[in-house]
Amino acid sequence: MEGRAVNTRTNTPVQDAGAPLAAGRRLVVAIDGPSGSGKSSVSKEVARRFGLAYLDTGAMYRALTWWCLEQGVDLADAGAVVEAARALPLSQGTDPDREQVLVAGTDVGAAIRGDRVTEAVSSVATNPSARRVLVARQQEVIAGSGRRIVAEGRDITTVVAPDADARILLTADERARMARRRLQNGGVEDAEQLRAHVVERDAKDSTVVNFTEAADGVVTIDSSALTVEQTVQAVVDAVVRAAGRPA
Ligand code: C5P
Repeated sequence: MEGRAVNTRTNTPVQDAGAPLAAGRRLVVAIDGPSGSGKSSVSKEVARRFGLAYLDTGAMYRALTWWCLEQGVDLADAGAVVEAARALPLSQGTDPDREQVLVAGTDVGAAIRGDRVTEAVSSVATNPSARRVLVARQQEVIAGSGRRIVAEGRDITTVVAPDADARILLTADERARMARRRLQNGGVEDAEQLRAHVVERDAKDSTVVNFTEAADGVVTIDSSALTVEQTVQAVVDAVVRAAGRPA
């Protein structure tokens, strides 16, 4: 089994992936996509199957937003938000089986998924200087993993890790994305909230990052009609095709 990508559930090789996917070799998988595209669950499972670390960059933007709100930083004050980004006392785990997001020692895992942060996060994420600070942190995490990691977000394939071994844009149509978000949140949002949290947030985020069209060399996977398992398989296949080919 040594040196092969292994399905951790069944303990069987993913495929005869070949030397470039061998344990210990670098394997950076970059996955971008809009909200509700299924990025997080798919990225975590892909990390498990290849035995990689996992970086949720959205959680970083959310943690910074939470910290700004907590500290009473005016989100419209671009300079103050950048200062907060530089000073952010964030400790974020990279285990796909255990989300760990601590800010100044407080576990913010639940708070950063709440409406308050979801509704404010785009203001922080559209601050170009704050983005630069977080992008540098993300690149440090990738380097610190020994470059064996799945990193997901909006600009991973283009800005954070344009040299990733596999670069994927995971999309889904608006209907599928809203339905997934509704399911994820246990149906507590009404139609208007759903639209605000998915469609309007994407529209704001798109003003600074293009995550709707694939850049050169990025593989697009449309998950609208796929189950999670089928999407995972499509991503695994894309990784093997991109990174498993002979060096
Ligand atoms: O992926 P998630 O919905 O948790 O991301 C939260 C927010 O973080 C996005 O709406 C976007 O504003 C921001 N984000 C970003 N770039 C990334 C990841 C997330 O701007 N790479």
